[in-house]
Amino acid sequence: MDQRSSELRENLESIRAEMDSAAVRTGRKTSDVRLLAVSKFHATQDVERLVRLGQTLFGESYVQEALDKQDALTDKGIEWHYIGGLQSNKARFVAGKFRLVHSVDSPKLARLLHKYARAADTVQDILLQVSLAGELQKSGIVEDQLPGLLEEAQGLDGIRVVGFMTMPPFFDEPEVARPYFCRLRELRDRMEIRFGEKYPELSMGMTGDFVPAIEEGATLVRIGTRLFGPRQYTK
Ligand SMILES: *Cc1c(COP(=O)(O)O)cnc(C)c1O
Repeated sequence: MDQRSSELRENLESIRAEMDSAAVRTGRKTSDVRLLAVSKFHATQDVERLVRLGQTLFGESYVQEALDKQDALTDKGIEWHYIGGLQSNKARFVAGKFRLVHSVDSPKLARLLHKYARAADTVQDILLQVSLAGELQKSGIVEDQLPGLLEEAQGLDGIRVVGFMTMPPFFDEPEVARPYFCRLRELRDRMEIRFGEKYPELSMGMTGDFVPAIEEGATLVRIGTRLFGPRQYTK
């Protein structure tokens, strides 16, 4: 195993250990919390190394970069998620190409993903990204508008809402982020009752705050820096 692989293995194991103990501490099963390795701005080779180490779930934030990586890494059993902000003109490149899209935050985007998923003869699983911090958060739908979006989504058979995602405005301050995670879970519980549906997935927690996120109910944690090291912003 090359040196970079050993490094990645060490990071992976220490993250997994912290994830598992957070889950167990709060009476959850370790298998209920999945690690999404956020590989944006990281080399395709690193993704390959991680696949060899058993990591198969990867998240990307930029459409072109994501599709390039998918092309380079076919037949490796990778499950790709799209987690970045999504402009409407990119929706058609995303629908049907990712197992889960985490960042749907408008009726327009929901309708476009529905349309392109239908055209590709598939159903696109999505999460609705919720903004719980008012003006501090630029992306995400505000709480007030969430029921309207859920109602509209119920009528679109090209998409299926399987849960919610949030990104608190304070990174790397785990305890400051905790109330947002708690609020997303409570909001999910209320929406399940209101719509008589199940929304099992909660995508919340990143490098700096995944422990409280898991304690508050995260099923998917999105971790980049802690796994790969700092991102190289020049490509
Ligand atoms: C980049 C990114 C992450 C990963 O952030 P780290 O702090 O590096 O773990 C998680 N979620 C989203 C939506 C991102 O864009």
